[in-house]
Amino acid sequence: MNVAVIGGGASGLMAGGVLSQNGITVTIFDGNEKPGKKIYITGKGRCNVTNAGGRENYLENVVNGKRFMFSAINRFDSKSTMDLFESLGCPLKIERGNRVFPKSDKASDITKSLLKYAGKCEIKLNEKVEKIEKKDDKFLLTTSKSRYLFDKVIVATGGKSYSSTGSKGDGYRFAKEFGLNVLPPRPALVPIKIKDKFCRELEGLSLKNVTLYGEIAGKKYSFFGEMLFAHDAITGPIALTMSSFIGDKSDVKLYLDLKPALSEQTLENRLIRDFQNNLNKEIFSVAKGLLPKSLADVFLKMCSIDRSKKVNSVTKNERERMLNNLKKFTLNFECLYPLECGIVTAGGVDLKEINPKTMECKKVGGIYFIGEVLDIDCLTGGYNLQTAFSTAYASARGIIEGRE
Ligand SMILES: Cc1cc2nc3c(=O)[nH]c(=O)nc-3n(C[C@H](O)[C@H](O)[C@H](O)COP(=O)(O)OP(=O)(O)OC[C@H]3O[C@@H](n4cnc5c(N)ncnc54)[C@H](O)[C@@H]3O)c2cc1C
Repeated sequence: MNVAVIGGGASGLMAGGVLSQNGITVTIFDGNEKPGKKIYITGKGRCNVTNAGGRENYLENVVNGKRFMFSAINRFDSKSTMDLFESLGCPLKIERGNRVFPKSDKASDITKSLLKYAGKCEIKLNEKVEKIEKKDDKFLLTTSKSRYLFDKVIVATGGKSYSSTGSKGDGYRFAKEFGLNVLPPRPALVPIKIKDKFCRELEGLSLKNVTLYGEIAGKKYSFFGEMLFAHDAITGPIALTMSSFIGDKSDVKLYLDLKPALSEQTLENRLIRDFQNNLNKEIFSVAKGLLPKSLADVFLKMCSIDRSKKVNSVTKNERERMLNNLKKFTLNFECLYPLECGIVTAGGVDLKEINPKTMECKKVGGIYFIGEVLDIDCLTGGYNLQTAFSTAYASARGIIEGRE
């Protein structure tokens, strides 16, 4: 039996590895000059390869596709991923939040290990697959260089974001050409564009230990942690997480609790005390005692209080405005950044079309879809690569067991 894997990314290399280690002839096609291009930029070049938090924790971090992933994660979980990389000579370490990285802090070591695992596969680089056709029981692949016949095909072409890594959404077209439903691709884990002009003044500011609240189409969300301001957007861990729940919705209200550790009452007492201790100073000196300097300025403008106003002339009403804005700093939502900027692509091949045990297409036997091309997306923490590996493993086992 010969199998074609379209895409030499995380999922394609894993599937090719499992198949070839089980004696199956595999050809991996990738349009790029080198395989695993996206892996190099994962985890800021360190590659957060999985999350050691266990299966329940994995499922809690799947935004779309939770039920679908039950079977695949049971067969190949984060422990399987970790054991595999360690066995391939890539020592790992576990950091905050159970995030797993190579000990070397080099994403390239993950790619090298996958290439070692897939060492028996033929890897055809600079060869883009253009068309897949079913001819009787076989598949005819037309590439940028030639035509080939295969018994089975695994589509591992990724999503549609960071397209310079080669993931340009070809898999969606292949799926549609076979009559499958594809949910429109949309950005996930992406910066959130904000209407407020003050973003420009706050560019580069990182806020730690804040809570971002969201009301998205009537549903409430809150995430505690770190957030970053870009010139027209919010980004950083909690903003990226929020973006995955926003999806294609436009009815979105966002606000920040800048002092989540303090109750309103405690914060009010603190404000009163700060006022009493600084009666003859400018209100700006009180604000910058509570907030980073650049934010203190923006914050006072938001409270409509002149920064040079003397504390002893700040009214009770103004003090209440300060309290409200500390607990509820409004951010006016505009939209999400475009698909290209998403760490992952949400949407994709409709999971109803796919057998969750084997990743085989239900309508067209012999063709499999794995990784980000599927309508699955997870939060940050190593869960997206784990999804790529688990779905890859399921497809390979499906082919191996079908042969037995
Ligand atoms: C900046 C960034 C950081 C990230 N960090 C992390 C992280 O730390 N942890 C984590 O879990 N996830 C992370 N992710 C997400 C993760 O990288 C992806 O979910 C994962 O790589 C998806 O794997 P895949 O194999 O499905 O697709 P990809 O890795 O995108 O691979 C698809 C491959 O298919 C090839 N291809 C596409 N079309 C064709 C065609 N027609 N013919 C031939 N070849 C084709 C492409 O060239 C590409 O090599 C990050 C993503 C980004 C963008």
